[in-house]
Amino acid sequence: SGYHKVLEENRKLYNQVQDLKGSIRVYCRVRPFLPGQASPSTVASIDEGNITLVIPSKSGKEVRKTFSFNKVFGSSATQDEVFLDTQPLIRSVLDGYNVCIFAYGQTGSGKTYTMSGPKNMTEQTQGVNYRALGDLFKLAEQRKRTFIYDIAVQMIEIYNEQVRDLLVTDGLNKKLEIRNNSQNGLNVPDASLVRVASTMDVMELMNVGHKNRAVGATALNDRSSRSHSCLTVHVKGRDLTSGTILRGCMHLVDLAGSERVDKSEVTGERLKEAQHINKSLSALGDVIASLAQKNSHVPYRNSKLTQLLQDSLGGQAKTLMFVHISPESDAVGETISTLKFAERVSTVELGAAQLNK
Ligand code: ADP
Repeated sequence: SGYHKVLEENRKLYNQVQDLKGSIRVYCRVRPFLPGQASPSTVASIDEGNITLVIPSKSGKEVRKTFSFNKVFGSSATQDEVFLDTQPLIRSVLDGYNVCIFAYGQTGSGKTYTMSGPKNMTEQTQGVNYRALGDLFKLAEQRKRTFIYDIAVQMIEIYNEQVRDLLVTDGLNKKLEIRNNSQNGLNVPDASLVRVASTMDVMELMNVGHKNRAVGATALNDRSSRSHSCLTVHVKGRDLTSGTILRGCMHLVDLAGSERVDKSEVTGERLKEAQHINKSLSALGDVIASLAQKNSHVPYRNSKLTQLLQDSLGGQAKTLMFVHISPESDAVGETISTLKFAERVSTVELGAAQLNK
């Protein structure tokens, strides 16, 4: 109908505006209630890019607060739907762009679900990582008359400000250095670099990575929630007519849990971890916020995470952050602090949000 046409046109325009701005998109995703969970929901309503929360107040009166993002996915959004809005960004890697996709949120809010998928994964529940690589392989195949692509991946972990290779097979999880502006475009040159040609290859590698990430973790001490893991996809494309070489790279980052830790309650190793996570997440927030505000100085040097991603944040690079929230009212404190972080790194302005209506 005419109404839908106008809506579609507006959406296109909105997307173009966002593309012109080039850089930072923030999508919010609400996890569904898990089986056995019964609690009132913090989410009052979702309307395109707006999410309204119900916040309990001391006086017992309900307070509502609305946050605006490029897009909000409600708890019934499927992995398919989430991927569809991520696809254009991913495809630009084959055109030589650098891309960073982050999953941010408190532990248990669905970061790993979005990036990888659930434990017993089916094709339908595969996360962004698998879909992204599958899509790159497909697109590379479609372009094979004009371009020859070489696709290789690295997988690393940052834990307590130390960088480690997650694709080692000899059990030696040695510490690695980050180098910016290296000649071959690899900023962790000593991490395993593995060529991949099919989704099966990727699955195998991810299994190695997940196993290595779990080493040293116990049920109570799940290290994976307190380290950042980064799957980096390096793409080299040769234009068969001109011989020109294009390089693009994509970082898919499952961040450590953003929950604040009560300093009076943790000590020793746990406190050290919490401080490292805190420092690196705020460094990331500072970098993205200063890019969003187009500041001339961008503080990349303040953490390993931002150092690692320096070449892929800002400039021509494209950034997407998925912020995850849990719907339970018990989690409202963390939910608000997550959405505040997300608003700070977001370039969504009222004008743009209204264009979308
Ligand atoms: P995080 O990585 O943030 O710690 P997880 O991705 O492990 O959180 O999610 C916590 C639990 O919730 C897991 O059991 C996961 O399978 C489930 N879950 C998260 N998001 C969804 C979703 N969108 N749909 C169904 N289950 C989900």
